[in-house]
Amino acid sequence: MTKRAYNFNAGPAALPLEVLERAQADFVDFRGTGMSIMEMSHRGKVYEEVHNEAQSRLLSLLGNPSGYKVLFLQGGASTQFAMVPMNFLTAGKTGSYVLTGSWASKAEKEARLIGETHIAASSENNKFMSIPDLSSIEIPENAAYLHVTSNETIEGSQYQQYPDTGSVPLIADMSSDILCREFDVNQFDFIYAGAQKNLGPSGVTVVIAREELLAESPKHIPTMLRYSTHAANNSLYNTPPSFSVYMVNEVLKWIEEQGSLAGVEKINREKAGLIYDTIDSSEGFYRGPVEAGSRSIMNITFRLPSEELEKQFIKESEQEGFVGLKGHRSVGGLRASIYNAVPYENVKALADFMNHFQKNHG
Ligand code: PMP
Repeated sequence: MTKRAYNFNAGPAALPLEVLERAQADFVDFRGTGMSIMEMSHRGKVYEEVHNEAQSRLLSLLGNPSGYKVLFLQGGASTQFAMVPMNFLTAGKTGSYVLTGSWASKAEKEARLIGETHIAASSENNKFMSIPDLSSIEIPENAAYLHVTSNETIEGSQYQQYPDTGSVPLIADMSSDILCREFDVNQFDFIYAGAQKNLGPSGVTVVIAREELLAESPKHIPTMLRYSTHAANNSLYNTPPSFSVYMVNEVLKWIEEQGSLAGVEKINREKAGLIYDTIDSSEGFYRGPVEAGSRSIMNITFRLPSEELEKQFIKESEQEGFVGLKGHRSVGGLRASIYNAVPYENVKALADFMNHFQKNHG
């Protein structure tokens, strides 16, 4: 049997073994065509079926909200940082952003290249170790939208509830927590996510948005950067990342098999609970810097009493087969990314390792 690592990478990240095996079986002869999905026309019936299946499966997992469309784009979530303001930040309007950490800040900074921005709330004073109080969010009258980052992959914080923006469109970067739990899509007008954490491999960026937001885009922006181009052509204006879309479809099937969003949420909460309990019962040996009410169930960040011990932790954990536990270089410390596909057993193994490490070094 293949030996699989205890993979805690932040992204690209662990994929379900069942999906990888399915892809392996499909690899050279997809659905009896005598070729791989990568070798066939994206205009053909076989590929289009997969493409449409992935879209409808995603909407079905979200409860088939009415009036929403799914797009498959390229360029990563980083390209969405620019496309969102290019398409929606029209003259006289401001792009309003909630700053919660590195990714929200990058999104806002990119929007400044396109137009005027506004900070609706920020936890920067708290070193981004919390999600700002929703009641502190101020949305200006001329806001084109309010942009939030549902989960800060680097700092390890996550919204527990979302602001009510009234008639102002709510836009969310859900790259690192999409489909990790049940949520009401109707609260959002526009959602985007790079696939390489909870949805599949890198190469495709998923958009779920209200159709009316996609209907018309400013004519002065390049064709490929207009949402209307992709919406009008079912994301087949140009060649889509066909293999990535196929993989997303398989990951979505796997989520259905886990009991859909309610099923994965239950396991995700148990997994996160294992690590947070280990941190909280360590009598200060492990420290979770993010405020309790803002803790992410996808990216768990933690510190040890010294940087030397953190280095030692990485070294010993690697010897035991754990991968990807080093915190992002910009913040240091440790980070366990426990996306949907990271098995409960692997998270249990990490909790056991943490206890063991504390016994030896505490
Ligand atoms: N937003 C968030 C929350 C992310 O975690 C990432 C990637 N780690 C990005 C945006 C950027 O995504 P990409 O690399 O697909 O451009």
